[in-house]
Amino acid sequence: MLTDAFNRPLRDLRISVTDRCNFRCTYCMPREIFGPGYQFLDRSEILSYEEITRLARIFVAHGVEKLRITGGEPLVRRDLPTLIASLRDIPGLKDLTLTTNGSLLRAQAQKLKDAGLERVTVSLDSLDDKIFQSMNDSGVPVAVILDGIEAAREAGLAPIKVNAVVKRGTNDHTLVDLARHFKGTGVIVRFIEFMDVGATNGWRMENVVPARELVERIDAELPIEPAEANYRGEVAQRWHYKDGSGEIGMITSISQPFCGDCTRARLSPEGELYTCLFAVRGHDFRSLLRNGASDEEIAEFLASVWHIRDDRYSELRTAETALLPKVEMSHIGG
Ligand code: SAM
Repeated sequence: MLTDAFNRPLRDLRISVTDRCNFRCTYCMPREIFGPGYQFLDRSEILSYEEITRLARIFVAHGVEKLRITGGEPLVRRDLPTLIASLRDIPGLKDLTLTTNGSLLRAQAQKLKDAGLERVTVSLDSLDDKIFQSMNDSGVPVAVILDGIEAAREAGLAPIKVNAVVKRGTNDHTLVDLARHFKGTGVIVRFIEFMDVGATNGWRMENVVPARELVERIDAELPIEPAEANYRGEVAQRWHYKDGSGEIGMITSISQPFCGDCTRARLSPEGELYTCLFAVRGHDFRSLLRNGASDEEIAEFLASVWHIRDDRYSELRTAETALLPKVEMSHIGG
């Protein structure tokens, strides 16, 4: 098992399969920057499914138990079920999941399930159509995402999680309604503090609603109580509805950083490994793959990267670090 400079094991690998997305969420891929002139990666630059699977096997052999497919929007990459089918058979893998904006889920949910996907997380920032469409800036209405979630439920991709980014003055006044909508359905809504990822989203501290404030607002209408974490390193703090009708989660990267338990690595579409969501640079695995390195050599490189990992950006965050030229969330997928 690999451990880093703070004795944190490597347990989760997030694999971004594309830097492209059919949404232009204003807090993630603002249209002014990711417009028609933006240079996305060329097909030849991104890892093939064979390359991804080979790396994933090596990572799982060195402690990774969970793989999360992300993007960009992973469902815009062709034949994603083919990748799922080749990942699911990796010996030692315990959890295979996917994060999506849900807009293409109706068409693909059953194929993904048949290929071996276990569950999905769907991003949905508001049930108010005007607010949702102004945030995704691509004209897709709430109904399409709800239908995608329903398709995931029909296909048995459970438990379904819904992620909502909380932005003060934009959608925060609609979030109790979001919780209420899914209460009692088995869908777990998780609220994410707006983060200073990337360098293009105009992040400002005053747009962050600390989780404890949101907890108070939800508790006032839908009483909740704290629940135990499921495992070390769980990203969301869990809260149960007091009436037993399910749970919600809070992802408190800004107000209560959880770097001490971070067991995650992130692989970009072109094969750069990032050891922190807020990293400025990655480590190049694609060159190894394409220059004939053996599995042992790739594993040695992974070990050398992980052993010296000492990232804890969220615990060190200051006004200055927030301005660093960090990798874009739309590139490595959250
Ligand atoms: N396209 C997929 C999706 O929509 O879930 C996967 C990639 S997306 C970058 C992953 C998650 O990151 C989404 O839930 C998105 O809302 C979230 N996200 C993007 N920018 C964020 C920010 N600045 N702060 C917090 N969450 C953010």
